Order: sequence, then C-alpha cells, then structure tokens
Amino acid sequence: MGIIADRLNRIKPSMTVGINVKANALRAEGKDVLVLAAGEPDFDTPKNIRDAANKAMEEGQTRYVPGKGTPALQKAIQEKFLKDNNIKYELDEIMVGVGGKHIIYNAMMATVNPGDEVIIPAPFWVSYPDIVLLAEGIPVIVECSQEQNFKITAKQLEENISTKTKWLMLNSPSNPTGFIYSKEELKELAKVLLKHPDVLIMSDDIYEKIIYDGLQFSTLASVEPSLKNRCLTLNGVSKSYCMTGWRLGYCGASKDIISAMNKIQSQSTTSTSSITMAASVEALKGPQNFIEIHNQSFIKRRDMVVDLLNEIEGISCLTPEGAFYVYPSCDGIIGKSTTNGNEIKNDEDFMNYLLESEGVAGVHGAAFGLSPYFRLSYATSDEILKEACIRIKRACDKLK
Ligand code: PMP
Ligand code: GLU
Repeated sequence: MGIIADRLNRIKPSMTVGINVKANALRAEGKDVLVLAAGEPDFDTPKNIRDAANKAMEEGQTRYVPGKGTPALQKAIQEKFLKDNNIKYELDEIMVGVGGKHIIYNAMMATVNPGDEVIIPAPFWVSYPDIVLLAEGIPVIVECSQEQNFKITAKQLEENISTKTKWLMLNSPSNPTGFIYSKEELKELAKVLLKHPDVLIMSDDIYEKIIYDGLQFSTLASVEPSLKNRCLTLNGVSKSYCMTGWRLGYCGASKDIISAMNKIQSQSTTSTSSITMAASVEALKGPQNFIEIHNQSFIKRRDMVVDLLNEIEGISCLTPEGAFYVYPSCDGIIGKSTTNGNEIKNDEDFMNYLLESEGVAGVHGAAFGLSPYFRLSYATSDEILKEACIRIKRACDKLK
C-alpha cells in the first residue's frame, strides 16, 4: 500500500505555479532569467488597501471570522455585483474563499459526483481540468481554434452537452488568450443552455476589469437573468487590485451551492485571513482609478510585445482584448532544429529551448490544452519585455 492516495494519481501539479517557481529559483541562483510565466500584475497593492490592512491589525481584527466573509465584506461584494454587473445577489448567495482557485475547488467538490462531466473550452486556465479530476469528474475538453479567437461557439457547446454534463466553464477575459466573450456571443450560448436546464455555468470573471480598447465586459448571469440561479459568478481581488498574495476570491451563486460550499469550508480552511477581508473591503469600495492607469500600461506593453513577436519568423500573435497574456502560435518553429541538432517537436520543447538558450521563461500551450502555442505574461516592465522579445528572436533565428 502506497503512502499517497490514489486520487493524486489523477492530477498533475499546476504548470503555471511550477514554471514560475522554477524560473524565479534560477534567478535567485544568479542566472539571467526573464520570467514571463507569472500570472500576476507587477504593480504593488495600492496604498489605501495596505493601510486598511494595517488598521485592521491595529484594531484587533485578528480573530476567527465567518468563512462566507465578514458582514462588511459580504455587503461590499453584494454592492459590487449590483453596481458593476447588475446582478442582485442576496447575502446568502455570496461566498468568500482563499482565492478564486479555492472557490472553483470548493464549487467542484460541492457539486460534482463521480462521472459527472464538465465542459472546458480549450485553451483553458491550467487548473480547471485538474480540479475537476480531483472532484472525480470528467473534463470534456472542447478545442477552440485561433480562427474563432479561442472561444467556444454555441454549436460546439450544443454538440458537447450530454446527460452527464454538470458544468460549463467560461472564462472572459481569458487566461491564456486574453479574448472576451461579447454580449451577443453570451446570448448565443445562453440559448443553448436554456434548452439544458441541468447544466450549471461557472463564469470566471477574475480579469473583468483588465480590459482594453473600450470593449465592454459582460457576464452570463447578467446577459441572461433567467440563468442566474444556474451560474456561479466568480471574481476576486488578485488581478484587478494586485493582491495575488493576499488570497481572496468570491462568488455569487444559488443558496444551495453556497451553503454546500460553506459546509466544506467550515471543515477545511474555515476562512481566508481576517486582515485580507478588511483589505478587500477597501479594495472593492475605495478609489478605483488606479485600475485604468494600470490598464494603460498593460495596453502599451501588449502592443509592443505583439508587434515584436510578429516580426519573428515562425511566430504569429493575435492582439488580446484583456487580461495580461499573449498566446502566440509557434507553428512555424515546430520541426526546426537547434544548433546542437535537437529537434523542436512541440511547444514544450520550444519553451525549454528558450529557457535554456536565452533565459526566457514562458508557459507551453500544451499546459492550457491547445498546441502549438505558448503563453507570455506582459505584466512586467517594458525593459524586460523588450529584452525578452529580442532574446526570443535571437533564439528563433538560430534554428534551422
Ligand atoms: N481564474 C483564472 C482564469 C486565473 O487566471 C486565476 C489566476 N491564478 C484564478 C482564477 C485564480 O486566482 P486567485 O486564486 O489568485 O484568485
Ligand atoms: N493565474 C495565474 C497563472 O495562470 C497564477 C498561477 C496560478 O495560480 O495558476 O499564471
């Protein structure tokens, strides 16, 4: 009998977390590594939010707090959903977790029975399939090509719904592609979903506010209010408020789902930190103007990276509409060989080659379920981004 439970055989560790840790460790050893693997803003948490945390500590908000969120935080989340998304959640339809990832984990553990299917459009955020597998569900991966801007169509959705379908996972703006589902596209998906009343929808809106070029954000429960009870509308403070290390995610969903998630949380984490909750009240209710300032930096970086990548033979890159990732194709690189005679057989070989030859760390497309692509995060300085693109070009030019 082995020490480790069989359920662990079903899953692999998070690639985004793993590559990021590995690349940062190489840097700490003194290696010249440019880390474009991280899924987090490079800006500090705004001062008013940090001040709110200090104040909470000084005031002694240091004891156990309700897992579903302090009353102040629950109220702030309720107001946020109403103001930004025009969705009216009651307080018992709101839940707080230790990050958006934890909310997804809790929701899957609370609802998925062995053999239940979860439709996941690919490319997807790396953690979706593994969380589903941990919950004994079956990920049903639906490939969404570059021609369709990597988004699932109503036809593809219809074709993949079965009697076992429990959830559809939607993520907009998308990690890793940066594309956004328009209101019209969501309406088309809603038409299909209305025909299948047992399917739940996870709407992962964590990049809601990181959106460019005047585009409008839409979320399913708002576009089709009759689906509200079947949607879990997920959000968090990690990305918009530069609070990845603070660990707070939240959601709105039906009372039944929230109550089941609370049950799990009461027997696992209890809650996220009381200080993080106080800081998050300030994040949601305080000034929001820095978000647009950050977005202006992201747009400049996005445009620079897209232009520089498109100058490289073998690589082509679409312009993302939100989040802070590019997801270029490396189709023209596959099959080439390095000066040592090693063939680049796939996007993972390409990423290893970039890391080893030029010290540039990105994440291979296979981790997100669609090859041959790779993800670079442009949430880092202009200088690093420029240097990374120069190095990628140099590495590609050396291939035969
Ligand atoms: N969803 C997506 C699409 C993400 O990229 C992330 C970032 N890791 C999360 C959810 C979860 O983020 P967190 O756990 O930091 O709230
Ligand atoms: N969401 C980020 C990423 O995709 C952070 C790492 C993670 O939790 O996966 O890189």
